[in-house]
Amino acid sequence: MEMKTDVLIIGAGPTGLALAVQCIRYGIDFTIIDERAGTTPFSRAIGVQARTLEIYDQIGLADELISLGHAAEKVKFLKDGAVRGEADLSELGTGLSPYPFVLLVEQGLHEKLLYRYVTDHGRDVAWRHRLRSFGERDEGIAASVLDADGRELTISAKYLVGCDGAKSSVRHGLGLTFEGDTVERLFYVADVVLDWPHGHDALQINLGENTLTAFFPLKGENRWRLVGTFPEGHKKDEADVPYEEIEAQIEHDMGVKLDIEKVNWFSVYNVHSRAVNAFSKGRCFVAGDAAHIHTPAGAQGMNTGIQDGYNLAWKLALVLNGQANEGLLATYNEERLRNAKNLLSTTDRIFEFAASDEWFVSFVRNNIFPFVFGTALKFDVIKNEIFSIVSQIGISYAERTLSGGSGEFGVKAGDRLPWFRHEGRSIYESVREPSFHLLVFGDRNTSGDLLAAAGSPVKIATRSMPLSEEAKKAFGCERPFAALVRPDNYIGWLSDDLSAEALSAYLARF
Ligand SMILES: Cc1cc2nc3c(=O)[nH]c(=O)nc-3n(C[C@H](O)[C@H](O)[C@H](O)COP(=O)(O)OP(=O)(O)OC[C@H]3O[C@@H](n4cnc5c(N)ncnc54)[C@H](O)[C@@H]3O)c2cc1C
Repeated sequence: MEMKTDVLIIGAGPTGLALAVQCIRYGIDFTIIDERAGTTPFSRAIGVQARTLEIYDQIGLADELISLGHAAEKVKFLKDGAVRGEADLSELGTGLSPYPFVLLVEQGLHEKLLYRYVTDHGRDVAWRHRLRSFGERDEGIAASVLDADGRELTISAKYLVGCDGAKSSVRHGLGLTFEGDTVERLFYVADVVLDWPHGHDALQINLGENTLTAFFPLKGENRWRLVGTFPEGHKKDEADVPYEEIEAQIEHDMGVKLDIEKVNWFSVYNVHSRAVNAFSKGRCFVAGDAAHIHTPAGAQGMNTGIQDGYNLAWKLALVLNGQANEGLLATYNEERLRNAKNLLSTTDRIFEFAASDEWFVSFVRNNIFPFVFGTALKFDVIKNEIFSIVSQIGISYAERTLSGGSGEFGVKAGDRLPWFRHEGRSIYESVREPSFHLLVFGDRNTSGDLLAAAGSPVKIATRSMPLSEEAKKAFGCERPFAALVRPDNYIGWLSDDLSAEALSAYLARF
């Protein structure tokens, strides 16, 4: 049997499903397959970052996802059964994002929400379909897929995106490398019902001598996600560790007996820190865990995969619609590869601090950090810096091919559109539509004229806005200026030269 599609997505984990959602949003013809029978029943990744919620806000999914979980309000540091310090996390990103917190929600529920968006739009995942092999054919890709009954199906596609997880057969098929390290220690994760004296209102981190255990409150009475590591030298294979060993390790590290009433799920796994050498080859792309895997430090993995697809979708849409040349697709690798490498070094550094055996690091972590962290977060400059990194709103594509313009600003072309309230409304309400947006901040009604004079093959929604104090502050500019915002809400072009020539020179890049 043969079928045809424009974009073939391999894998319906969070990365593949979020990409399918974006394809629907941009009207791209796509097919998505997964060898599983349905979305994951497990909680797996529970931290959803502000940047992901901003993306979901554009498609009307943010509020519902928030209702399925809750914001991490507070963190408490425990040592030897006592609270050694705490910090307020609820307003960490106030003024920086409409979602100034980390949302805790189970991956199983998150995937179901994305999947429902897909089916509500009349599309479906081809479950129990496994990619066997693929190759380039007639200016496209031919993929051999086995369906649920073991029959072979050939799917011809213009482009293929491997969202097929850490063991990605797409990555292997493309011959991409996956360089990096495997963390020495064995990790465990368990979803439990636990009644204890420390309350259910905060993320709790137990500081052991050379181990670290995190307790994340999940929605539901006394429900917790536990994540931790066995000490170095614990040499068992992932499959050989029974749950009892995890509980014994936690009790040993905490120095107290825990009243764990029920274990809903547990898993023991090795953690790797690796990234591909390229996010694309020919007409094929990789995204999510297929392209980068890291320690769970900072809850970055799933969020990064969702943003990979968000970066790629609008570029595929423009190229498939004939509005941009194929060179635009090369910017996916340019922008996301550098981000993946930066991410690996950040998560490695956080993990090193969190779990190092080294005497000095362990002394600072256990005896100084819990006392000073809460105080440090009272300083805006520290709070903003931490939030920008962890929430992923600080990811920037500045000085890359798609970033241009001129003038002095507090932000750069290539940064995410800063969030601010403009005339009483969130500026993000002006850029929901899946297209470019030309925002002209000045006194005159100039946006339409500027665009008409520049001439553009792509659809650009225009808006002239007063140069409010909020806009001046957000962009760090006192003069009239224009920002061309990409469909993924990054600033493509930022300029105080409001001439049509300047804008058309930028548009000619793709
Ligand atoms: C136990 C555990 C705990 C975790 N905890 C966290 C956490 O706390 N925070 C965090 O950020 N991350 C965590 N992660 C990682 C997080 O779950 C991943 O980053 C995320 O799932 C990546 O999404 P993905 O869609 O890229 O890949 P996956 O979720 O792995 O999805 C890949 C999909 O591709 C399908 N597939 C693979 N090969 C084929 C094929 N040949 N044909 C068809 N389909 C195929 C698979 O069936 C799967 O559905 C955890 C992971 C595990 C295993």
